[in-house]
Formats: sequence, structure tokens, C-alpha cells
Amino acid sequence: MQNITLNNGVRMPILGFGVFQIPPEETEQAVTDALAAGYRKFDTASAYQNEEAVGRALKNSGIPRDELFVTTKLWVQDDPADDNTKRAFETSLTKLGLDHLDLYLIHQPYGDVYGQWRAMQDLHRQGRIRAIGISNFHPDRVVDLIDHNDVVPAVNQIEVHPFFQRDTDQKINSDNGVVIESWGPFAAGKNNLFTDPVLTRIGEAHGKSVAQVVLRWLIQRQIPVNAKSVSPDRMAANLDVFDFTLTDDEMDRIAALDTGTTLYFDHRDPAMVSRLGTMRVE
Ligand code: NAP
Repeated sequence: MQNITLNNGVRMPILGFGVFQIPPEETEQAVTDALAAGYRKFDTASAYQNEEAVGRALKNSGIPRDELFVTTKLWVQDDPADDNTKRAFETSLTKLGLDHLDLYLIHQPYGDVYGQWRAMQDLHRQGRIRAIGISNFHPDRVVDLIDHNDVVPAVNQIEVHPFFQRDTDQKINSDNGVVIESWGPFAAGKNNLFTDPVLTRIGEAHGKSVAQVVLRWLIQRQIPVNAKSVSPDRMAANLDVFDFTLTDDEMDRIAALDTGTTLYFDHRDPAMVSRLGTMRVE
């Protein structure tokens, strides 16, 4: 597996397995199948409500901890954000059955993110988390967080797929030492991604599926990604993307698919700021 080196020297597999929207009762089997397929990096969140199932699958696999890379995410915390963040971290760690995390992300750019970040900096300094990062932060919020804190986020996990490519976000984050990580690489099939004619033709030229072309395109852009599937066949196929290379012309043709806009929602939309920012996760 190809790795990407984060700003503090931690090496992270460039391709992982995401468990968003896998129901808790199906997650243990999905993660067990993903481990068997060869995944070693896992992306969950307290908000996904399946950390315990992820933890059980990791433990039962018997795979040494240092061969795994585990990410989870902090949901928006009430005041005092510092204490509540540390409590939420301990809850996630207990559910996962781990003694440290590889990557802990602020899931949404809402509430007292500075209080949350200070607590995460403490946990990072104490060696409880190898790298800390953020998610769904627009570039202005990334720069502001960096300017007023000690630790530069290692990762910013944001929506990136062929219809929303985030070149400017990648440049600004990268110039500030932050790696952008793709969520929703297949846009969850929106815009008929899996039958898109450009992606299909490129896939045919390499004997690969649209999904494999998308993952390869992200990897060639040095963007780490977490692919989600509950199908063992698709899990295996999604890992099989290291034996071909997209040409410059193919990268250009995919670049032309960018619409420059989200297929989900803008994290600056006041209605979503309020809806997600006031939601609470136990
Ligand atoms: P996605 O990866 O864009 O799409 C997932 C969908 O693609 C699933 O319905 C899956 O169906 C299908 N699929 C997977 N591989 C396929 C293949 N080879 N051929 C055809 N269909 C395929 O969407 P996502 O799950 O929302 O995003 C991926 C991960 O990103 C999440 O699991 C999560 O870890 C992370 N994420 C983070 C945030 C955030 O706010 N930070 C938000 C969303 C997602 P099957 O399962 O039936 O194969």
C-alpha cells in the first residue's frame, strides 16, 4: 500500500475503508471482510454510531495494532468544549477498544472549534493521538485555525470527487501543510457517476471500472481516500488500483468534469450550520 506522509511525519495509507451509513449491525462483518480484502486503514466517526462494531472487527482480526490506521471524528461539543472533547475522545477510544488513535478529526467546522482543537492538541501532545485534523473546513477557516493555534492540522477531510474536484482547496491546504482527504469519492453514485461516459471510456482503455478510475485519479492527485462498500467483491476491486496509471490526457479529461460545486450541501449554508451544529451525538 502506498502511504502519504503527514506534516508530523506520520505515514498514512493513501487508500482506506469508510464505514459511513453502514448500519451498526452490519459494520463488524463489513470491516472483517475489508480486513480480509487487505484494507488496513479505517475511517469512522462518533456520529456514525458504529465505532463499537469497527473495534470488535479490528480486535477479532488479530492483526497487530501497529499495522492498522484508525481514524474517528469528534462531533460538535457543548461548552466547555475542552472538557467535553476529552470526554468524547475517551468514549470513542473505549468503543473502538483502542489505547490510542492514529487520526482524530473535528467532524464539522461548527461550535467552539478552538476549544475542541486545544483539547485535541493536548491529547496529541500526550501521545494519545498520532495526528489530529479537521473535516469540512473551507480554506478561510483552515487558515484561521492555523493562525491561532500551535498544531497545524495534518488532514482536512472534504468532499472530493470528479464533479467537485477542489483544486483551489487542495492548493491552499497544501501550502499550509494540510493534506486534503476525499470523502464521497464516488459522489455516492450521484450524477450517474458509475455510468459517466468519460470515466467509462477511460476505464475501458485500462480494463478497469469507473470506481477504480476514480480512486486512481485521486491517488495520482496525492489525495488520500476512504472507499465504502458492503460488497466483498467491490471492496477487493476498489483496492486493485495500483497496477495502472492514468495518462496526462486522461487526467485532463477527468479535470473537465469538474462542476466546481458540491453535490451534497455547502457547509456554510446557514440552515445546515444550524441543523448540524445543534445536533448532538452520544
Ligand atoms: P461514496 O464512497 O462516494 O459512495 C459509496 C457508494 O458507492 C456505496 O453506496 C457503495 O455501494 C458504492 N460503491 C462502492 N464501491 C463501488 C464499486 N466499485 N462499484 C459500484 N458501486 C460502488 O460515499 P460515502 O460512503 O459517503 O463516502 C466514503 C467515506 O467517506 C465514508 O464511508 C466515510 O468514511 C467518509 N465520509 C466522510 C464525511 C465527512 O463529513 N467527513 C462525509 C461522508 C463520507 P455498496 O456498499 O453497495 O458497494
